[in-house]
Amino acid sequence: MPELPEVETVARDLRPRIVGATIVGARCSWARTLRTHSPEAFAVAVAGRRVEAVGRRAKQIVVDLSGRAALTVHLKMTGQLFVVPADAPEDPYVRLVLELGDGREVRFRDIRKFGKIGLYGRDPVSGELTVEGAAVFAAIGPEPLDPEFTLRDFRWRLRRRKGRLKPLLLDQSFLAGVGNIYADEALWTARLHPLRTVRTLRPPDERRLFEAVRSILAEAIERRGSSIDDYTAPDGDGSMQERLQVYQRTGEPCPRCGRPVKRMVIGARSTHLCSWCQRLTAADRAGASTILRGMTDGRRRPGGRWAGLAGEGVSGLTPAEAEQATRRARTERTQRAAATRRAAARASVAGSTPS
Ligand SMILES: [Zn+2]
Repeated sequence: MPELPEVETVARDLRPRIVGATIVGARCSWARTLRTHSPEAFAVAVAGRRVEAVGRRAKQIVVDLSGRAALTVHLKMTGQLFVVPADAPEDPYVRLVLELGDGREVRFRDIRKFGKIGLYGRDPVSGELTVEGAAVFAAIGPEPLDPEFTLRDFRWRLRRRKGRLKPLLLDQSFLAGVGNIYADEALWTARLHPLRTVRTLRPPDERRLFEAVRSILAEAIERRGSSIDDYTAPDGDGSMQERLQVYQRTGEPCPRCGRPVKRMVIGARSTHLCSWCQRLTAADRAGASTILRGMTDGRRRPGGRWAGLAGEGVSGLTPAEAEQATRRARTERTQRAAATRRAAARASVAGSTPS
């Protein structure tokens, strides 16, 4: 799912294309894409509004419109935004279209249909997006790259929390915009185990985590995000996936110590780490034994049994090597399929080549 750097990239690509344009109508073919309005009411509510700004809050794009209104776009799993001439071919995955007065359209394409678009008012006093008097982003924590967000703020927030680091980083009320990819990368960079509990952190640990989160996110924005799965932006794919050190690299050597990267499941989310570089103290092991038993380096299945060859036609290899080869082949197939889907998305909106 797109995280802060991917959503920021989409917002930056959209900005020069649509700021100043006027929305003249809207079509919606999947009503549940809309959070706040019926398709008919939405079309009426956006018509005639001018796009004033494009920004981001947490993992959502925020498009400010004239008349103190704003659209929020949550891409979720497979959402993509393109700006194309109105006569460009429209594929069946386009769920919502904003028609612009200059003959172009903003198209929200979303294969899995989890994406959400909302239309809100901006409070004239607080400047917050509101729905029935409540702020839309009230429960969302600070932006980690906000220049005003300091190590001091981070420590203050950390010290009011309990629990383990990985779920905490994913908690949007703690920090905005961090998801599975950048949580794993930040913890590896900071040499902190994902199951480490907050109360055992010493001040230097807190500092390393703060700096790692910020530097990973900043680098990922520079590289236009990680094009894993369906994420692509109006100006094309990102390249951060090539720079990820542990995320989806189970079994590959840790870039720091050479030992195999391991995978475990924490709170139903895949977690990647180096158990050598990211040590867990005995105290933090308590209560985590079930999760730790499920840890794998891709060669051995949890529980210690060697994985079988599973009919993949791999021969002349030890079971460990065969499992590794099978896993790698599966990853490559998944990556190729995702790249094909992204290329198909771009081809289906052929008018959207970077201008
Ligand atoms: Zn390591």
